[in-house]
Amino acid sequence: MCGIFGIFDHREASNLVYLGLHALQHRGQESAGIVSTDGSTMYMRREMGLVSDIFDEEALQEVKGHAAIGHVRYSTAGSSSLKNAQPFVVEYSKGFLAIAHNGNLTNAKIIRDELQNYGSIFQSTMDTEVIVHLIALSHENLTLDRLIAALRRVEGSYSLLLLTDKEMIAVRDPYGFRPLVLAKLKDSYVVSSETCAFDLIEADYLREVEPGEVIHISKDGIRSYFPFKKVEPRRCIFEYIYFARPDSQVYGRTVYGVRKAFGRELARERSVEADIVIPIPDSGISAAIGYSQESGIPFEMGLIRNHYVGRTFIEPKESIRHFGVKLKLNADHETVKGKRIVVIDDSIVRATTGRKIITMLRQQGAKEIHFRVTSPPTRFPCFYGIDTPSRSELIASSHKVEEINRYMTSDTLEYLTIDGMKRAIGNGSGSFHYSFCDACFSGDYPLRFPWGMELEQMELFVKR
Ligand code: AMP
Repeated sequence: MCGIFGIFDHREASNLVYLGLHALQHRGQESAGIVSTDGSTMYMRREMGLVSDIFDEEALQEVKGHAAIGHVRYSTAGSSSLKNAQPFVVEYSKGFLAIAHNGNLTNAKIIRDELQNYGSIFQSTMDTEVIVHLIALSHENLTLDRLIAALRRVEGSYSLLLLTDKEMIAVRDPYGFRPLVLAKLKDSYVVSSETCAFDLIEADYLREVEPGEVIHISKDGIRSYFPFKKVEPRRCIFEYIYFARPDSQVYGRTVYGVRKAFGRELARERSVEADIVIPIPDSGISAAIGYSQESGIPFEMGLIRNHYVGRTFIEPKESIRHFGVKLKLNADHETVKGKRIVVIDDSIVRATTGRKIITMLRQQGAKEIHFRVTSPPTRFPCFYGIDTPSRSELIASSHKVEEINRYMTSDTLEYLTIDGMKRAIGNGSGSFHYSFCDACFSGDYPLRFPWGMELEQMELFVKR
């Protein structure tokens, strides 16, 4: 859960990266950073906090040059501290190198132990740092070949950007778990986690960086390579459900369109008699519109959001998360009083949000509450870069739907089926262009941690 953005060969490189990171802020709110180069020196600014808090005019002037990469971070691996802020920068025998990574390496712990046994000294607790060490240790001459050699040793998910004084390299892992897209702004190439950042800077969207593709961008132009063993790509389905911004095109469709289709499908699969449909804002809005359109039940904003509070889940501290729901949402008395309400949310993780919202709605006089979720029960943790907690914290991993319903105190609770979700993505046709990773719902992991290493691997991720 991070956002990355980079541009090569543009006078306003860091200003554009700053704007790009703004558009990607929803992907991570813990820290942000920009690293730039003018062809000889590297400049860097990384801090904890939001993009708009970190970068003022003065800070942006520090990150000079014609090429820059940036990162917004939500930690899935490594603790939430400045030493783990990205882009990660090192100076080694070949010069400077900066990396911005979205994803999660599943064999990072093994490689890290091995490197530490040989005497490597790590500066952070991030999985990303192993890539940098492997690059430095490679005997290849070109950075591109060093990077490829390093990535041949790692497993897991990585959409990443690498910057040196001469080039920018974009890579997406062979499964293509996390998104990565390419655009052009006049003569400059731009790479981003999501297309919404291209719209902001008026860059022309070209295409996805393909799973397994390495794109090298330099003064000599752009080159594409496919150096890894081919596997069947498994793009993350959760990007559609929760993570990506509705106005982004993800895997060829806008997220808004897909979420509306989830809502329509849910109305077909799990209909109920009710007076109004209300979303849990913001992530439930698109799907609630779809549910309302399909069912004919009027759409209302029964819950009002305070926009000056970030996503509650994004702030990982339990104490704040506990407060979060009330800080963020309030029910509108006039809208909900005496009503039979369909409440739409995109997913249930621990069920604390739903439970609190239901209490809030009942306090404001709601008559019936029918909770509808636009994804199947989230029963399995994600090892590929989405921060879903361990199985014991995922309520659906140990409780049946009726039990969750009782816990949440809703009148009824229903989820979208896996097939329904896929039908919606395929625009009702039942077929779609891509295969997805839906391990969080199905437990079908394309790549596991090396056998028996789950716990040990997770230790690396303990928030220190
Ligand atoms: P919970 O209260 O733990 O059930 O959280 C459910 C809410 O968290 C839903 O409204 C989702 O919009 C949101 N959510 C689901 N998955 C994630 C995630 N991986 N990261 C952040 N927020 C999430």
